[in-house]
Amino acid sequence: MKAGFKMSDPKFKNIHKKENEKLYKKVKHISSFGSITMYLFLSILFCVMAVILAGFILEYIIETKFTEAYTDLKYVSELYELGNTDNTVMDYLRSDGRDFIVTDSSGKVVYQIGENTISDISGDIIFSNSTETYTVYADSESGYLYPNNGHLGVDFMRLRDSLEMDVENIELPLWLSIDINGGDRKLVGKTLFSFSKRDAILAIELTIGIGVITLIMFLIFFIYLIRSIVNYKRVVKLFYSDPVTSGHNWVWYVRNGNERLRKASSKASAFAVVDVVFKNYRNYCLCHSISEGEAFLSKIYTILSAEIKRGEICAHSTTAVFALLLRYDSEEQLRSRLNDILQKLRNMDKEHNHVFQMGVNLLEPVTDENGKPLKRKKISIENEYNNAAAASATLESSDACEIRFFDSNLLEEQRWSDSVHERQMSALDNEEFVVYYQPKYDPKTSILRGAEALVRWDSPDLGFVSPGRFIPIFEKNGFITRLDHYMIAHVARDQKSWLDAGYKCVPVSVNVSRAHFSENDLAEQIRDIVDKAECPHDLIEIELTESAFFDDKHAMIETIGRLKSYGFAVSMDDFGAGYSSLNSLKDMSLDVLKLDADFFRGENADERGQIVISEAIRLAKNLNMRIVAEGVEEKEQVDFLADQDCDMIQGYYFAKPMPKSEYLSRIAVSEA
Ligand code: C2E
Ligand code: CA
Ligand code: CA
Repeated sequence: MKAGFKMSDPKFKNIHKKENEKLYKKVKHISSFGSITMYLFLSILFCVMAVILAGFILEYIIETKFTEAYTDLKYVSELYELGNTDNTVMDYLRSDGRDFIVTDSSGKVVYQIGENTISDISGDIIFSNSTETYTVYADSESGYLYPNNGHLGVDFMRLRDSLEMDVENIELPLWLSIDINGGDRKLVGKTLFSFSKRDAILAIELTIGIGVITLIMFLIFFIYLIRSIVNYKRVVKLFYSDPVTSGHNWVWYVRNGNERLRKASSKASAFAVVDVVFKNYRNYCLCHSISEGEAFLSKIYTILSAEIKRGEICAHSTTAVFALLLRYDSEEQLRSRLNDILQKLRNMDKEHNHVFQMGVNLLEPVTDENGKPLKRKKISIENEYNNAAAASATLESSDACEIRFFDSNLLEEQRWSDSVHERQMSALDNEEFVVYYQPKYDPKTSILRGAEALVRWDSPDLGFVSPGRFIPIFEKNGFITRLDHYMIAHVARDQKSWLDAGYKCVPVSVNVSRAHFSENDLAEQIRDIVDKAECPHDLIEIELTESAFFDDKHAMIETIGRLKSYGFAVSMDDFGAGYSSLNSLKDMSLDVLKLDADFFRGENADERGQIVISEAIRLAKNLNMRIVAEGVEEKEQVDFLADQDCDMIQGYYFAKPMPKSEYLSRIAVSEA
């Protein structure tokens, strides 16, 4: 296994991602619920505390008064016990004006002074202060104070009425029982809890004060609650919103997308993850301004989000890319919907011909063996979106508004492209690229006249790979320029070593990709490489593919001129394959014209095809060019081309591309 890197290597795992996931979860789970619960809890706690406090204060006041009343009545009961046979004492008690009754053990009244206004509440109710327990009865006439579950209750409404009556002292009557005669009898006397108006007002003010403080605390908590809810909403909005379009951002898309896809109710639905790319964004910003570009992105977002239906989502993913999650019934219906969206996007700015492209990844419902839809429990919208983006990436080189659906072939292509990309550098360093030579023969004499150098990749990981599988990838990623230099260097070295060994070498053509034409000194680079190997220039021919002639004509003419001035022959490869290059022939003085293999295939191989071929040969001759026919496999074709004075044939009829040892034997043979 060669050195290289694998994306599964832990050092390539994004360590921040896990932390971010946790953060997203936290933001998602922060809700107003906690704050509201806290608010309610604190409010109730405060109320309870206020009530308890008010209760304590009231109880303290009542207890103080109660002790006073009890002491007073105790004195009366003692007097009664001492003097109930003594008229003087009884006269004194009567004249004292205190109302009381004495009952025997059966509850029968045996003695009474004043009026008996004990309330008719049945049974005794115990009132306890901190040290003793007493039996008390409410006064049926006043009812300000009444026993209540072992405590004294206060009727505040009556109390308030008394205050309004503007009396200085409020007297609260209560009946209190004291055991006398060793517990055989009870003296139940009327005691008066008297409050000055000032005390009552103080108590009421205190209660109101506590109430107000409680209310203020409620308000403070409430304001705090509202503020924290508002702040939370703001943070969430910022977290999930996109600053350019004010719409949703990628984080939101991932969170919501995953939720939607994993929801039980979505299991029978088919979803499409769509990557929408606005290709001209950078140019648009260059011609206008960044802020106009961003305004344009914002418009795109508006159009896209207007297309979103219930259960679907849309977000601004990166610079000029938008992400959609759509539902669909059939691929056809989805295709037409997406085409409509593309149309709307194009109509946005009629002055420019903007290019929008879409990559689509279809997510059909997952079913069990009985066809029952299953929940997409572990689906990751990021992975699914990546597939959609991989589909749109294949449109990169196209300038048309297009939609590309993701499929397993594309995944394979992508994987292959990645593994080629991963290994290209080390392959070059380890000389895994091998030069194969395909001889070119004179059709009349079958004498070797030249050869074309064609690359093969002998990779320990990928096996023996033909150029069709990696050249297009190198052309895309730019590595082709390095490979072409490598090939020229190897061919020049081979030629030089064969020359030195006494072989009569023939010119070998090397392919130079169109990607090189952005370099002004291409001709000099080639010259230097060949010179380094000390190979004569006339043994190296440069093949330029026909399609390259349309890139930058001026640069091309320049480079061809310089290459020729250094003594290299230059050929036009693949003549006739798709592009019309008659015009290029007019402008550029080339040495060799290579007829594309297509001339000898299928429908071209008929009589009309022959006319075209013979005319092309004539044209080349008239322009002083040598002509090579590529891809010739049949004897009849060879005979025909010989008749037409074609200079060379490069095709399987004579030889396939071969390793250099085999090619060398052909040079030797041709010499014999
Ligand atoms: P090309 O330059 O047009 O090369 C000719 C291709 O046609 C070669 O395929 C050759 O094997 C094939 N061929 C020749 N005669 C026949 C025939 O009679 N029948 C059939 N069916 N095929 C024939 P190969 O070697 O697979 O190369 C494919 C393409 O890869 C080349 O097309 C060229 O565009 C590119 N390529 C190969 N080596 C290099 C290189 O070193 N640099 C660059 N830039 N491109 C290269
Ligand atoms: Ca070629
Ligand atoms: Ca060719």
